[in-house]
Amino acid sequence: MAKSRFKSPWILHFNCGSCNGCDIEILACLTPRFDVERFGMLHMGNPKHADILLVTGPANRRNARVLRNLYEQTPDPKVVVAVGTCACTGGMFHNCPNVLGGVDKVIPVDVYVPGCAARPEAIIDGVVLALKKLAEKKVEPVKAVGGR
Ligand code: SF4
Repeated sequence: MAKSRFKSPWILHFNCGSCNGCDIEILACLTPRFDVERFGMLHMGNPKHADILLVTGPANRRNARVLRNLYEQTPDPKVVVAVGTCACTGGMFHNCPNVLGGVDKVIPVDVYVPGCAARPEAIIDGVVLALKKLAEKKVEPVKAVGGR
């Protein structure tokens, strides 16, 4: 189970309010030029199927609850990758009235990929680093009902 997660991670991408620049670079990773699917990485639409949460854009008051919900619905073990300067620190949206800052103001972040926009090579590098962190995280054993 752990080996299949490491060899074929499933990824959920959430745009937390970015300008779409970093999202276009994430999509570029799926094109034949970068072709991350050859590593078994699949883009998922459901957090319950994901191992890695890729987040672009800054956290703000409006999307914080959605971001937290997605994080909580993603099963353990999971890793979060903040893609782009906005997701890392708030970036160009820093000091906007409704912006809280980087994604780590709302959920724990494991890997930061800076850049405006983050380059596809850097995103792939960040995901590979995230895989190493995923392998280090242990799955909690499910406790038997009745305490046996
Ligand atoms: S880091 Fe740059 S490209 Fe990415 S969401 Fe922010 S402003 Fe857009």
